[in-house]
Amino acid sequence: MTAKSDKISIPTFRGKKKKQYDMLIELRDQLADQIRTISSHSLSSSKQAGEELADIGSDNFNREMELGLMTEETQRIKAIEDAIKRLLDGSYGICEDCENKINPARLEALPYARLCINCKSQREKEQRDSGNAPARIMD
Ligand SMILES: [Zn+2]
Repeated sequence: MTAKSDKISIPTFRGKKKKQYDMLIELRDQLADQIRTISSHSLSSSKQAGEELADIGSDNFNREMELGLMTEETQRIKAIEDAIKRLLDGSYGICEDCENKINPARLEALPYARLCINCKSQREKEQRDSGNAPARIMD
């Protein structure tokens, strides 16, 4: 299999940006690997269920958990890809709400963070007040 059209052109980041870029790419690749592992396991377990007809209930339960996990990982990959775009257009590390710089320690813990810690807790508070579950993944 040749993949010459897949070749990714790596932007010429230097210093801190290069480190952030590398970290985001690595994180994305790790998640992509996890999704591949989950989906291949999911496929093999559904085959088994068809063959054995035993314990189907718990098998379905496992598959649902795996699918839920996959959705979560896919959303996270999306968030990472958005962060890479922000790195490219120069808005990476800037809070979407207040436009202040996001604390570097927070970015290290959550490289795809879109909000500074203040705006994040503000949003969580608003979500709690309105009775919605906090959206942990995207920001
Ligand atoms: Zn903010």
